[in-house]
Amino acid sequence: MPKTNFRIAMDLDGVLADTIRSFCNILNTRRSTAYSPEVFDRWNAWEIAHISREEFLRTLDEAWFNWKSIPSTEEDIAMKVSRLTQFGRVDIVTGRSEATVPYAEEWLRFHRIPFANLVRTESTSAKAELDYDIFIDDSEFLMSLIASRLFGFGFLYTQPWNISAKILPRIFRIRRWEDVPPLIAQLQ
Ligand SMILES: [Mg+2]
Repeated sequence: MPKTNFRIAMDLDGVLADTIRSFCNILNTRRSTAYSPEVFDRWNAWEIAHISREEFLRTLDEAWFNWKSIPSTEEDIAMKVSRLTQFGRVDIVTGRSEATVPYAEEWLRFHRIPFANLVRTESTSAKAELDYDIFIDDSEFLMSLIASRLFGFGFLYTQPWNISAKILPRIFRIRRWEDVPPLIAQLQ
């Protein structure tokens, strides 16, 4: 019998919301630069943008305060995500700052993304301590933590900053949301 009670953790930034696009717009306006999402080919985007980590995080928050300007990573994202609910419970698991959570909720509502709970963690490593079977995330670091657990799967959502990530045991790369349902079906 197929398993339909997976606990699925779905990240927000870089997986559902294309926050880096808004980040580039804000930074380019502020500093007269011309960054585009494609140039951020490693996790530490602040090093590429030549700003401090604090300014990077502050600018991401700024993007969220203006949540309507943040596009989704893909067209018809709600429809694509809704296909996951047949496999179990789908939660949003995000490291967003506390101040931006209400805006993130607005964004999710506006885009009609179906989910059961929004869970906020203080860090990426704290995500790996949560009891989920599947993590859909753009963080290579989180994938390495999941691979070192005794159970669970990681689906690495392809972004320029994780393109060279090593694929570890129980970790799969997904290039678009449509890859997710057939992959979960295989895990059954
Ligand atoms: Mg993310």
